[in-house]
Amino acid sequence: MGANSNILAIGSNFAMIIASTKKTKWGGHAMFKLKQTLFAAACAFTVSSGSVAWSAPVTDADIVNDGKTTEDVVSNGIGTQGQHYSPLDKINAGNVAKLVPTWAFSLGSEKMRGQETQPLVRDGVIYFTGSYSRVFAIDARTGSKKWEYDARLPDDILPCCDVISRGAALYDNLVIYGTLDAKLIALDRDTGKVVWKKDLEDYTAGYTYSAAPMIVKGKVITGIAGGEFGGIGRVEARDAKTGELIWTRPTVEGHMGTLNGKDNGITGVTNATWPGDLWKTGGAATWNIGTYDPETNLIFFGTGNPAPWNSHMRPGDNLYSSSTVAIDPDTGKIVWHYQTTPHDGWDYDGVNELISFDLNKDGKVIKAGAKADRNGFFFVLDRTNGKFISATPFVSKITWASGFDATGRPKYNPESRPGAPSATGEKGPTVTVAPSFLGGKNWMPMAYSPETKLFYVPSNEWSMDIWNEPVTFKRGAAYLGAGFTIKPLYDDYIGALRAIDPTNGKIVWEYKNSAPLWGGVLATKNLVFTGTPEGYLKAFNAKTGAELWKFNTGSGIVGVPITWEMDGEQYIAIVSGWGGAVPLWGGEVAKKIKDISQGAMLWVFKLPKS
Ligand code: CA
Ligand code: CA
Repeated sequence: MGANSNILAIGSNFAMIIASTKKTKWGGHAMFKLKQTLFAAACAFTVSSGSVAWSAPVTDADIVNDGKTTEDVVSNGIGTQGQHYSPLDKINAGNVAKLVPTWAFSLGSEKMRGQETQPLVRDGVIYFTGSYSRVFAIDARTGSKKWEYDARLPDDILPCCDVISRGAALYDNLVIYGTLDAKLIALDRDTGKVVWKKDLEDYTAGYTYSAAPMIVKGKVITGIAGGEFGGIGRVEARDAKTGELIWTRPTVEGHMGTLNGKDNGITGVTNATWPGDLWKTGGAATWNIGTYDPETNLIFFGTGNPAPWNSHMRPGDNLYSSSTVAIDPDTGKIVWHYQTTPHDGWDYDGVNELISFDLNKDGKVIKAGAKADRNGFFFVLDRTNGKFISATPFVSKITWASGFDATGRPKYNPESRPGAPSATGEKGPTVTVAPSFLGGKNWMPMAYSPETKLFYVPSNEWSMDIWNEPVTFKRGAAYLGAGFTIKPLYDDYIGALRAIDPTNGKIVWEYKNSAPLWGGVLATKNLVFTGTPEGYLKAFNAKTGAELWKFNTGSGIVGVPITWEMDGEQYIAIVSGWGGAVPLWGGEVAKKIKDISQGAMLWVFKLPKS
C-alpha cells in the first residue's frame, strides 16, 4: 500500500510535524514533492483522438439559465446560484433502485488521489478536471476519450490539501480551469489545445489554485488559495475570451484593488480591524468556488481564516476573513459582507458557498442566501444587503460559541479559545473544541431543492485538540502558529447528510455515515444523491431521507454528482477517487479510513431500457 501508508503516517503525525518550529513547511509537502518528481518529466501535453466536431458556443444566457436547461450542465452548481438542483424526474423514487452503470472511464496513469470535481456536459461531451491539474473531454454516449490535457506541474508546488482540482468553467468554445501552480488556462473545447494561459500568482510563495472558475457576464471569476502561508486572498475578473485582467479585489482590509489597470480603492479601512502590520500577511484566502446571483447582480465569495491561526497576535475582527463578501461583478467593489467567525482562532474558514434561494417567512418572500459554515452554524442572510436572519447549529456539538445574537454576532465561549504561547516561547494550553478545523462542513457543496424547500448539507461530527505556539512569517512556509489533532465525536459515525428547513433551522431528516462525508450533493425533483468515502454513490428520497439505491464505485467518492438528459434518457455522473484533506490531516480519524483504496474513475448511470 506504499503511498497510502505514507499519507496516513503524515496525517497522524501532523500535529507533531507542525508543532516543530524547525520544520516550517507543510507536513504534506515532502510527500507531494516525491510524487511530483515521478511526473514532472513530461511537458504539458494534449492527446486527441477521433474526429473533431464543431461545438455550439456556450453563452452567458446558457450559464444563467443552466438550472432550467436539463440537456446540459455548463456551470458548477448547475446554475450560478449554486443550488445543485435539477428538475429532472425520469429517474425518481419509484425506479431509482434499477439504476445501473452505462459506462465508466479511468483517468489512467499513476495519478490517482482525490477527485473533488464536478463534471460539465455540453453537446454530448463531458468535460471534467482530474487530480494533478488534468482536464478530460469524454464522449457522453460511449465513454471514449476525445482529448486529455495534462498541465506540467513543477516539483515544488505547495498544495495544503491534496493534488485536487474542483472543476472547470465552460464559455464560448473554451474550457477554463486553474492549476496547482496557480495558472489559469483556457483550452479549445473541441481539440484541447491551449488558447490562452495566465499566471494567477507565484506558487513558490505558497499560492495555489484548485477551485472551479466561474463565468459572470463574459468574465471568468477566480479566487486564490494560500492563506495557510500568509498569502492574501482576492477575487479577480478576467475577460473570459482573452484572459486579460479586468478587476481584482483583495479580501483583507488595507490592500488596494484595481479596475482596468488602475487603482480602485483600498479594501475596507486600513488598521480598522487589524492593528499593526499583520494584515499584510493576513490570509482570508478565497480558495473555494463562489456563486453569482443574477437577481441582485452580486458575486458571493467566501474567505478563509485570518493568518496566522494564533488569534492572540491579531486583536480585532480581522476583516474580511472568515466571511462572505458580496462583490459587484462590473466594478469589483465589495457591496456588503457578513463575517461568520469574527476574530477566528480555530481555522474556521468561511469559504463555504452562499446559495441563493427564496425564503418564505412571515407571509413574505425574502431574497435570501444560505451557508453551512465550517464553524457548525447554518446561516440565512438577506442576500440583497447581507443582513443577518438566522444562525442555527447543523452539527450536534459546537463549543466555540453558544449561538448568535440578534445582530449576527457570535456569543463566544472564552474557554474554547486556545491560549497564547508563553513569553518564553512555550506552546499555550491545549483546549478541546468542536467542530474541528475541518469543519461542520468543508468545501463540498450542499444542494437546495425549490421543490422540497430543503437544503441538503454534507456535514461531519468531530472535535479537535488545538494549541497556539510562536510563529513568524517566512515566505513560502506554513504560517499557523498552532498545532492540533482531530478526533471523532462518536464511534458509529462521523459523516451526516442532513436535510435542513431554512425557515427554522430544523433538521428534517439525516443519513449517518461511518467515514467523514467529503463529496458534494445533487438534488433532483424527488431524489438526493451523494457519495461516501466507502465508495458508494447513494440516492435518497428527498422528502423522507429513505435510502433507495447505492452503487460501489471501487474507491472513495469526494466528487460532486450531476444529472442531465440526452436522447430522451436521464443520466447521472460522478467522478470517484479517494483523497483530499481527510487522509492528510484527519488525526485520529485515520483509523476510520485506512482501508479505503485509491482510484480515479468517471462513472455514468442510467435506467435500463425497458
Ligand atoms: Ca443546463
Ligand atoms: Ca484555513
